[in-house]
Amino acid sequence: MKLLLLLKDILLEGNTLPNRNYEAKKIHFPMGMKYKKIHACSNDCILYQKDFELLKSCPRCGLSRYKLKKKDDDTIEDIEKHGPPMKVMLYLPIIPRIKRLFENPNDAKNLRWHAYERKCDGMYQHPTDFIQWKKLDDEFPEFGKETRNIRLGLATNGMNSFGNMSTNHNS
Ligand SMILES: [Zn+2]
Repeated sequence: MKLLLLLKDILLEGNTLPNRNYEAKKIHFPMGMKYKKIHACSNDCILYQKDFELLKSCPRCGLSRYKLKKKDDDTIEDIEKHGPPMKVMLYLPIIPRIKRLFENPNDAKNLRWHAYERKCDGMYQHPTDFIQWKKLDDEFPEFGKETRNIRLGLATNGMNSFGNMSTNHNS
């Protein structure tokens, strides 16, 4: 909610960005932009799903899945059944979002632009001009032939994979 308010302050006056998280959800949910809440270990060891779904504490570090409550006699009690989880990850399923892109004719046309309207003049102007794209086409020709197939790239800035020293990587 703070982020929404901050963004609204930065944008020009009269913008239509929702004021509150609740209003943003009211817009997103009918569009199929739901998200799934998955409990996570506070130390980022595991997600409580699949084999770990029913566990009440982390099998690696032993930390409770739920917030702890202090009793009157200063002992600590787990809030296992109805207590709030220590950490929650919001999972945004990607397939419904990609499907939505193809529901809009203009967006669908733009998604296939690389196959039909791109200039092929030997210059590097689009990811399709690069060797990685072509290599994927060679390895998976059936995938490459279908112009509606989506290729996802992953990029990161300033990531320190294993927390070693103070070196950051961009990839
Ligand atoms: Zn853990």
